[in-house]
Amino acid sequence: MTHYDYIVIGAGSAGCVVANRLTEGNDTTVLLLEAGSPDIKPEIHIPGECLSLLGSEVDWGYFSEPEPYLNDRKIFCPRGKVLGGSSSINIMIYIRGNPHDYDHWQELGNSGWSYQDVLPYFKKSEHQQRGASKFHGLMGS
Ligand SMILES: Cc1cc2nc3c(=O)[nH]c(=O)nc-3n(C[C@H](O)[C@H](O)[C@H](O)COP(=O)(O)OP(=O)(O)OC[C@H]3O[C@@H](n4cnc5c(N)ncnc54)[C@H](O)[C@@H]3O)c2cc1C
Repeated sequence: MTHYDYIVIGAGSAGCVVANRLTEGNDTTVLLLEAGSPDIKPEIHIPGECLSLLGSEVDWGYFSEPEPYLNDRKIFCPRGKVLGGSSSINIMIYIRGNPHDYDHWQELGNSGWSYQDVLPYFKKSEHQQRGASKFHGLMGS
């Protein structure tokens, strides 16, 4: 029987990063379980095609309960069911928050959430095509 140090459920945005970080440069073993299929659908890799993925077999296709303040309409809530999770079906918009918002969260008592605290993690998540800088990272560094 194979034993793993960790089991990560869901190979979406968070699950893939967690599994990768856990196994970085050591012998830690991780079983990464994904309910969806591999990300082989061509539309996943063509940014302009992302809308065609909504409601397809790589979308869980959730709807909300009837919303009383929206004339009881059920609201479509797409979520990726595929390797990469919702990042495989998303619109690829990247917006970093305003520094003042993070500093405000810290002022409200959330230590570790100031802009200077979170900036290293933004940089770590990037491979900035224009190169590394004070605000941008390369290759996860
Ligand atoms: C249509 C759409 C457009 C979006 N556009 C943008 C955008 O432009 N920019 C942006 O920054 N964000 C966007 N987002 C949001 C962003 O993609 C998500 O916030 C992010 O991917 C969520 O990451 P996650 O790891 O929490 O979940 P997910 O990436 O959804 O991963 C969850 C994974 O768990 C799997 N799973 C669930 N249950 C089980 C189970 N029981 N067993 C095994 N596996 C399971 C799922 O199949 C999925 O792969 C968009 C989201 C959607 C749906």
